[in-house]
Amino acid sequence: MAMESKIREVAPGIYQIYLPLPMRPSIVNVYLVRGGDEWALIDTGMHSEDSIATFKAALAEVGCPLSAVRKLVCTHHHPDHFGTSRTYKELTGAEVYLNPLEVPRVERMQSSIPMPEAQAFFRSHGVPAPDSPDGQPTPGRYFGTLYAPVLPDHPLDDGDTVRIGNRELIVVWTPGHTAGHCCFYFPADKVLIVGDHLLPKITPHVGVYHFGPDNPLRDFLDSQQKVQKFDVELVLPAHGAVFKDHRYRAQQIIQHHKYRLQEMHGTIKGRARTAYEVAMEIFDFGQDRPYFQLLAATFETLAHLHLLMYEDKVRRFEDDGKVKFISQ
Ligand SMILES: [Zn+2]
Repeated sequence: MAMESKIREVAPGIYQIYLPLPMRPSIVNVYLVRGGDEWALIDTGMHSEDSIATFKAALAEVGCPLSAVRKLVCTHHHPDHFGTSRTYKELTGAEVYLNPLEVPRVERMQSSIPMPEAQAFFRSHGVPAPDSPDGQPTPGRYFGTLYAPVLPDHPLDDGDTVRIGNRELIVVWTPGHTAGHCCFYFPADKVLIVGDHLLPKITPHVGVYHFGPDNPLRDFLDSQQKVQKFDVELVLPAHGAVFKDHRYRAQQIIQHHKYRLQEMHGTIKGRARTAYEVAMEIFDFGQDRPYFQLLAATFETLAHLHLLMYEDKVRRFEDDGKVKFISQ
């Protein structure tokens, strides 16, 4: 049976490969970039047999031998972006590039033991204990063998240039979704690879966790301003279709968060509440909602509450071991 093609050229010498994910969103786009005889892979997909087989078939289809992939450049540490870095480094011999702020997060993402600091943090923000017999879920248990990362060989810092044969990639540090998230700009082509920073249909998760940073939503909104300074004709996202107008989409995302900020501010007028209580009111929680989604909603809410707090619109205090917020 002929496999349906999962690779297409989206700009001269820049190929989009859609790799399957075992969870929603169900596809991640990675990008294969050719600069003369040298190729680079941007992001990796998750470490599943299905994804690796799809990747190998895609490379064969465009005539790129595995050994021609010399660089593996990743936007951030999440499993769908960095989860196959160990295997692809072994298969190709490529050198791996990642922002240094992502490195401790790679280690945390592999942990399968519930960390007491994390549990105390969840409790203090009002999250109920999980009723599953396994106790607190951990990323390591959740992703298991789907996450097979490697430590990077080279750091990626804001403004760095990475050469891919005769092409130049400029690193644009866009903290927010994660602290070390980077976008990649190809000035000669006016192409911007945006990872999870600027998705066409959904907004990425931005949450506050015990390991910081403390105001990631501010970082994220600043990063939405930052990408608008670049002259871009084609945006290549990690999820969803390629699109043209990066400024329009960045403004939409900024507006979305402004609305959420107002909405959350409204729920704590004259009434102190935990981040969990605010999340329960804002997000529509059905029964049987996976526990990790409940955590994500709570800590996304906390990111909004922290931004309001840093703007002196909200006061934070502790009451009986719980962190509460009230609008000023
Ligand atoms: Zn991500």
